[in-house]
Amino acid sequence: MEITDITEYTLEYEMDATFEPSWYPGFEQSIHRVQLFEVETDAGITGITSVSGDATRVDALDLAREYLVGEDPRHVEQRLEDLRSLDSYGPRPWHFEVACWDIVGKDVGKPVHALLGGDPDPIPAYASTGELRGPDERLAYVEERVDEGFEAVKLRFHSEDISEDVEVARRVREAFPDLTLMVDLNMAWSVSAPGGETWTFDDALGVARELEAIGNIGWLEEPFDGRNYDALARLREKTDVPIAGGEFNDGVHHFREFVDRESLDVLQPDAMLSAGILKGKLIAGLADLHGLQFAPHTWNDGVGFAANLQLLACTNPTWCEYPIEPPGWTPETRDFLLDEPVTAEDGAVRPPTDPGLGVAIDWDRVHELAS
Ligand SMILES: [Mg+2]
Repeated sequence: MEITDITEYTLEYEMDATFEPSWYPGFEQSIHRVQLFEVETDAGITGITSVSGDATRVDALDLAREYLVGEDPRHVEQRLEDLRSLDSYGPRPWHFEVACWDIVGKDVGKPVHALLGGDPDPIPAYASTGELRGPDERLAYVEERVDEGFEAVKLRFHSEDISEDVEVARRVREAFPDLTLMVDLNMAWSVSAPGGETWTFDDALGVARELEAIGNIGWLEEPFDGRNYDALARLREKTDVPIAGGEFNDGVHHFREFVDRESLDVLQPDAMLSAGILKGKLIAGLADLHGLQFAPHTWNDGVGFAANLQLLACTNPTWCEYPIEPPGWTPETRDFLLDEPVTAEDGAVRPPTDPGLGVAIDWDRVHELAS
């Protein structure tokens, strides 16, 4: 079999409602932008993959202007600090590895997880929020998720006044004593505007102490830059709250560092962004060998979610991330390019079982939206 060509579709899906990601203060998302790729072969099989979010932005001039115009070139230290966000843009090798797996699965008529020793059992999922909301609004959200069967919810902390975020967690805990709560700080990769705030060690330790008192915390995610292995390890040593990270770390060597330097309790590679499926399995093995949790990041689009579900189904994860923050970020918006969204049932997600990635593209919609 030989790859003969690749077709690209740039899709802009107008969302039903705006979404204000906590990790990008001041930004209101109204378009879900995805690059869909169809990798064609001489066997008549095509593999799909997608690049979404910031990774779709590959115009170097556009990015250089955004980060440099209006800034003083003599302040090199600060320019370098701002420019580190460039690591978050553009496709990675893993995006295209996923298309190869889709082809392999379609060639033999099996879902990817079946080729790698997995099973189609439902995977327990946590509802992953994406916005900062006050206590009352967040309580209403959690109530809906609990009614749907979720037993875990991940909150975002990114307010200027950290105590406001802690208060939300405290109120949720009071109302739902048995709910597992995760907290994501999103400090590992600065996609926020240049000069965005990062946390000090004491900020993170203070929050970890508050969370210890709140109790039943699944993990505290990305308190520092994703390559600040030693700060993560120091924090991990000082708190009982598990420390998580890795979604934007690129390649298996970063995860080896996390393990060697005892930086994390929970490894969170993303099949699209961090490691692909083959190396994702290797990282899952590292987690197993060292008694760590494996809980991949999945916040992409429908194709990215499917790729991560295939990885989850052939490893031993503790949780599947299920991104949901209505009305802006619904399963329908997240998976707009699929025939139908992949939805959770009773707080768990069943991995797709059709061949390859197991999901079907809504080609009518793709042709309608493609520019
Ligand atoms: Mg995260």
